[in-house]
Formats: sequence, structure tokens, C-alpha cells
Amino acid sequence: MKDLEKILEYQKVDIDLRRIYDKIEKSDDYKKMELAKAEFNNDRKAGIHCEEQAQLLVSTQEEFAAQRAALTEELERLILIVENNEDDEAIEGNIEQLEDIRKRLFDFEKKVNETQNKMEGVVNNYKEANEAGRKHKQAYMTAKNKIEKLKEENNDKIEELTKKLSDMEREIDPSAMEIYRSVTAEGKYPAFVEAYHNTEDDMYSCRGCGIALSQKRKSELLEDGACRCETCRRIIYKN
Ligand SMILES: [Zn+2]
Repeated sequence: MKDLEKILEYQKVDIDLRRIYDKIEKSDDYKKMELAKAEFNNDRKAGIHCEEQAQLLVSTQEEFAAQRAALTEELERLILIVENNEDDEAIEGNIEQLEDIRKRLFDFEKKVNETQNKMEGVVNNYKEANEAGRKHKQAYMTAKNKIEKLKEENNDKIEELTKKLSDMEREIDPSAMEIYRSVTAEGKYPAFVEAYHNTEDDMYSCRGCGIALSQKRKSELLEDGACRCETCRRIIYKN
């Protein structure tokens, strides 16, 4: 394999850099930051849900108000008729209607109250979601500041290693670099591993995933000094 020695050197530096990032990204504060962020997003969703519910309740209330106005108008109209009517039979019919409307208005008040109670519940939930969101945002900022500090502390080292890597990269065959990148992009470190040789049965296996090489790969390893693991896609090399 072309530039194998160089890429192994590159890999050493890259792993040093990876360790620094790991130290940051696996720190408690990083976890706290991520958790607070997720919780904050949930609070926001809860808040939006409350807003939607409130909007629905407002339209219900508006609809109720219109219905109540219509019923009240009808009630007033009937009262006038009853007051000015002298025909007893007609009055009786009107009174029945009046009672019916009164009953409907009474049921209606109950529904209006229920809606009002629901609205109060929604407003409370909204306040709670807002308050929780405020707390989670604060927790997020606190953790984020600590992470920034940790990054700053490691900044010189990160810059040094990053520069070293870009200098080294210029000297490495681009196709070898591409393989390196595609494997590490999947979080597989190291991407290039030395073959493990079992002298008892003369089998070779990948130190990355532990799977034994097929005959075909084994011959490739022995002939070219390196081969690709069929299982984890790492490059296996032989010293
Ligand atoms: Zn493997």
C-alpha cells in the first residue's frame, strides 16, 4: 500500500487530536449541555402545543359568545311577546319556548365555564413550560461556558495538532487519505490496524473487529502488505 508508513504517522497524530476532542465531548458538562438543550427543545414544543390549544379554545369561546348572543336575543324577543300577548293559549306556547331557551342558556353557561377552566389549565401549562425552558436554558448556558473554557484550555494543542495534520496530509497519497477519511467518518479509530497473526493455524484477523480474514484477503495482505477488512472496512496492514 502506498504511503502506509506516512499514514500510520498521520494516524498517531490524528488519534492524539481525537483524544482531546473526546475529553471535551465526553465530559460531564458536555452531557449536561446536550441534555439541557434537548429539554429546552421539549419545553419549547410544549409551549407551542399550549399556544395551539389556546387558539382553539379562543375560537370555541368566540363561537360560544355568538351562540349565547343569539339565544339571549331570542329570549328577549319571546319575553316581549309574552308581555304583550293576551291570548292565554299562545302565551302558554311561548312560555314553553322560553323555558326551553332558559334551559339551553343554562347548559350553555356550563360549557362556557368548562372552556374557561380548560383555558386556565392551558395558561398554567404554558407558564410551567416557559419556566422550565428558562431553567434549562440557564443550565445549558452554564454547561456551555464550561465547555468553551475547556476548549480554550486545549486550543493551543488542538491548533498545533491540526496544523501538523494538514502538513502531513500534503505528503500522503490522496487515495490513501480518502480511505482513511471514509473509515474514520464512521467513528472507527484507528482506521488502519495491524493484522493479528495466529501462528498456530496461520490465520490472520482484523484487530479492529476481530474477524478472521478470508483466504482471498489473506493473500492480498501477504502480497501487498495491506488489505481491506471485509467486515469493518478498516485497512489491515502487516509489518
Ligand atoms: Zn475488521
